[in-house]
Amino acid sequence: MSKNYFAGIDVGSTAIKVALVDEDGKMAGEHVTPSGSLFHKNSLAALAALLAQTGVQREQVRYLIATGYGRKLFKEADDSISEITANAMGAFETGKAYGGVRTIINIGGQDSKAIQIDDTGSVVHFVMNDKCAAGTGRFLDVAARNLELDLEELGEYHFKGTCAPLKINSTCTVFAESEIIGLLANGHGKSEIIAGIHYSIAVRTARLARRVGLEKHVYFDGGPALNKGLVAALQEELGCEIIVPEFPQTTTAFGAAILARNEFLTEVEDAH
Ligand code: ADP
Repeated sequence: MSKNYFAGIDVGSTAIKVALVDEDGKMAGEHVTPSGSLFHKNSLAALAALLAQTGVQREQVRYLIATGYGRKLFKEADDSISEITANAMGAFETGKAYGGVRTIINIGGQDSKAIQIDDTGSVVHFVMNDKCAAGTGRFLDVAARNLELDLEELGEYHFKGTCAPLKINSTCTVFAESEIIGLLANGHGKSEIIAGIHYSIAVRTARLARRVGLEKHVYFDGGPALNKGLVAALQEELGCEIIVPEFPQTTTAFGAAILARNEFLTEVEDAH
């Protein structure tokens, strides 16, 4: 008999993330691709890519839950849930390896949020910033483009500077773009500018996180958590250790896949 699998798809504003788990809730594969503008088509392609990558057949995926900004546009899912619930579950499950998680900080492509969960993984409360791109991945994307660097390089440059991080004063991404260009024109080094950008995001994120309260352990996920410079800046601003999981960008998709598995197993149990 072929094995059963369960999928979570996080249709984000910037990237589509798909995760596959088996009946034991173990991660069987993950895939990340840009969202583009055709959310449904690109989500289908992301799922197909993950299936090809893992050798799992579509029929073996017994339940599929969509989450994220564009979840309603993906018509293939069996169900959809909020990214807060999916993120909480993903962090709760992956956080067990680090001794448990209570505070989740997520930075996405266009928003950021802080979630407090209890010891069962249920959401106690959360706060969200989806009004301003300044403390989000978008800010990093704009900076990388202006500095002619790949996103992956921002983290490395953070630690290369010989001067103190520069203060980025602009509170808006559009103005920050001009400010970065101005700093470059005045002969400032890329490292000092990048470290300044990371601290500027970290200050905003720490302010948001304090609104839900910082309870141990504090966990950081979302695409920008791949940036080690930002992680270091955030840790400094919060004044406490933060846990970054192995695959920080796919935690929410993983949480949705776990919830898909739980839902399916409950339905099977109820049917008996
Ligand atoms: P969303 O769910 O809103 O689409 P994600 O959690 O997928 O957001 O994060 C997207 C952001 O992650 C991008 O805007 C980018 O700034 C950042 N990012 C993606 N890949 C990397 C990487 N390899 N290194 C650093 N940052 C990254």
